[in-house]
Amino acid sequence: MKCAICSSPLGPPEENAHHPLCSARCKMVDLSKWLNAEYVIQGPPSSMGGPGDGFAGIDLSEFDE
Ligand SMILES: [Zn+2]
Repeated sequence: MKCAICSSPLGPPEENAHHPLCSARCKMVDLSKWLNAEYVIQGPPSSMGGPGDGFAGIDLSEFDE
């Protein structure tokens, strides 16, 4: 396994807090890549629904004794 940013060899994930990258520096590079891509597309990548989405239909009073 190699770092996607600098191609340095990576240790096993459980020994590498920055997995799948090798270091905090590469994480920052990776993050800035994503941010740049997002900026170009001009849209948030979130398509996972709003807060509480999927739970709105549950009536909690049903469990109230
Ligand atoms: Zn790296």
